[in-house]
Amino acid sequence: MNWEVPALTPGNEVTICGLSLEDYIRKVEVFHGYAAPGMILGGFMVDMAVGRMPHGQLFDALCETPKCLPDAIQLLTPCTVGNGWLKILNLGRFALTLYDKKGGEGVRVFVDPSKLASWPLARDWFLKVGPKEKRDLRELVELLCQMGCKALGVQRVRIDPGFLKLRRHRQFSVCPRCGESYPCDDGPVCLGCQGQAPYKSVSPLET
Ligand code: ZN
Repeated sequence: MNWEVPALTPGNEVTICGLSLEDYIRKVEVFHGYAAPGMILGGFMVDMAVGRMPHGQLFDALCETPKCLPDAIQLLTPCTVGNGWLKILNLGRFALTLYDKKGGEGVRVFVDPSKLASWPLARDWFLKVGPKEKRDLRELVELLCQMGCKALGVQRVRIDPGFLKLRRHRQFSVCPRCGESYPCDDGPVCLGCQGQAPYKSVSPLET
């Protein structure tokens, strides 16, 4: 897609985690494939949360949706799914929490629909009102850049001890059915052999 970064007003010094908006949008295109509106809004959300964490503190992240927002977290913080510092729990809400790895004290940032009233185009996009194909992506991204943090809410939270413990390494053994390794506490055979794998083998094993 031929995309041009929205023209920002001169002297606009809005930054996202130290990046200019233009630089952030370019990074989003490389990382996410295109300047998705959810990534733009997500960038402001991450910036807001990071800015409220104690300086220099190592934190983990919890993301309540698998869409767009995890990529904003991975682009702007050291937390990734792969290193285990970002967990995605699909509660269906466009919200994220950054929290202290040990104590669990953290900051949750979410979108407050009541504050979206002043931004009808953004509200319709966010609440998925109206046909998607009629939306002008560029117009929406520009609007979200102007909106910035204005439709966001913040709350202090403490992550439950049980959730913090999920970080701990689990014991592994070899599954007696497929012969691959798996966490013992999943049961006598692995979750794949319990029927949770969404595929069937269609050819003999290749060597
Ligand atoms: Zn198995």
